[in-house]
Amino acid sequence: MEDFVVSARKYRPATFDTVVGQAHITDTLKNAIKNNHLAQAFLFCGPRGVGKTTCARILAKTINCQNRSENIEACNQCDSCTSFNSGQSLNVYELDAASNNSVDDIRALVDQVRYAPQHGKYKVYIIDEVHMLSAGAFNAFLKTLEEPPKHAIFILATTEKHKIIPTILSRCQIFDFNRIQIHDIANHLAYIAKSENVTAEPEALHIIAQKADGALRDACSIFDQIVSFAGNTVTYKAVIDNLNILDYDYYFNVTDAVLNANIPESLLIFNDILNNGFDGHNFIDGISGHFRNLLVGKDTQTIDLLEVSPNIKEKYKAQSVKCSVPFLIKALTILNKADTQYKSAKNQRLLVELSLMQLCSLNMQMSEAEKKNDTREQKLVETAKPAVSSSQSAQPSNTSTQNVVPVAEKTNITQTNTTPLKKAILKTSSPSISQIISTEKKTENSPSTSTTANSTSNQPENSFTQEQLENTWLAYANNQKAKGKINLFSILTAEKPLLIDDKKIEYNTNSKTSEEVLIEEKLDLIGYLRHELKNFSVQLTYNVIENNDKKNLYTATDKYKHFLEKNPNINKLRQAFDLDVEF
Ligand SMILES: [Zn+2]
Repeated sequence: MEDFVVSARKYRPATFDTVVGQAHITDTLKNAIKNNHLAQAFLFCGPRGVGKTTCARILAKTINCQNRSENIEACNQCDSCTSFNSGQSLNVYELDAASNNSVDDIRALVDQVRYAPQHGKYKVYIIDEVHMLSAGAFNAFLKTLEEPPKHAIFILATTEKHKIIPTILSRCQIFDFNRIQIHDIANHLAYIAKSENVTAEPEALHIIAQKADGALRDACSIFDQIVSFAGNTVTYKAVIDNLNILDYDYYFNVTDAVLNANIPESLLIFNDILNNGFDGHNFIDGISGHFRNLLVGKDTQTIDLLEVSPNIKEKYKAQSVKCSVPFLIKALTILNKADTQYKSAKNQRLLVELSLMQLCSLNMQMSEAEKKNDTREQKLVETAKPAVSSSQSAQPSNTSTQNVVPVAEKTNITQTNTTPLKKAILKTSSPSISQIISTEKKTENSPSTSTTANSTSNQPENSFTQEQLENTWLAYANNQKAKGKINLFSILTAEKPLLIDDKKIEYNTNSKTSEEVLIEEKLDLIGYLRHELKNFSVQLTYNVIENNDKKNLYTATDKYKHFLEKNPNINKLRQAFDLDVEF
């Protein structure tokens, strides 16, 4: 065990080139040394365990090395280097500000700064966790930082850059360290394993790297821990057992069950997970990550965001083919909801089970919805002008741009004929799926210009009559009614659309609220009109006409007059019964 605790430190990089995953920083530092443009104060920012102190030490060693290589690396052989490597150099002074944050601590340091080094050129002061310094200590330090002696170099390191006061920030050259990529960590672990004669499965090292969350130091100590537990063979199984991590296989199996709408199977797997000592929240978290990976794995452009070993990556690829993007997005939404509700839920197991059932029925619903969409499209085509539509609907959808989404393909007869489902996809999935983004852009730009995915040349611009317009409009309204959008139906049928010239259509509505409802539907409506009227230059504008002339009928006389206008027979009725209208 002891041996291995040391091993984490043993493989601490000793040269710039061996620092893992921070090339942007080491290259800059090397260049500065080479060109003699070294700043006197540095601020190294970044998460813990990513190499800030290591880089500071390498910098200190390299600038004092008596026999620096052409590649600006320390020789690790000269007196200066050996004293550095054995931790006995007087030219480096490290202060941990987390525990030494008083004014006195800083004064002691500042006093030292005045003395030039006895050997070597520079004295390097490394102040770790510098954000922990008290305000007084910061002030005591400021003067020295402002006018440091030529031989002094300060390297301040912090995990919390935002806590550093501006007067310090402005005096430092700032370097931002990255979280280390998982495959970089895994590679470094593989290197350590090889040097230590430990056989390690790549999946095992990837899991360790993932668990370390970008911190190399943590990854090394987890690795040591596993080796001390499992001996010289580090297997995937040993790692997940030891780190209490849920096996990937569980997620792949649950997803298969969900895709097959197999509720009992999914519940049994979850039961198994609980029996293995994992809690429900853990599972929700993991399965969300799994669906995210499937989403990312669907697209060649985003597949690199999958930070897993090559074997697992192939598994993700294979399973992602079986999931549609809308399915994954809806699944993630369900899981996200479960995640936020988990803490406050009284019966947490039931919450997870319910979510699983929702996931299972999701795929069923979706496939039915997709079917419905198909038939809806067919119906639209049938109910409206038959001559116009049949040829359009027969167009094969594969003439259009590449689309990854099955649903999107189905709505591709015209790009503007946007179904609500597709709109939802466009709205929610844009960050990850590039193809959809391109479709979305097209849709955004399209209302007034050409909209088919086909070439612009064969777009019809047939003329149509007011009557044809009214019929088409009504057909659309009826369709909305059939879909249960009663409010939209009544707004659409309150007035008649007006054909202003051969392609401009105006529709008057009597309130802002109605107009808002119409605007929501505009793309869909305009697409329908263009398609059915076979005129792709059709433009649609809404006007809000507040009915000022429509007087409110307060008195009985008003009401009587109003009804009389509508039906003159009312007067006969009144006379026949000898009725009076109150005046
Ligand atoms: Zn040296």
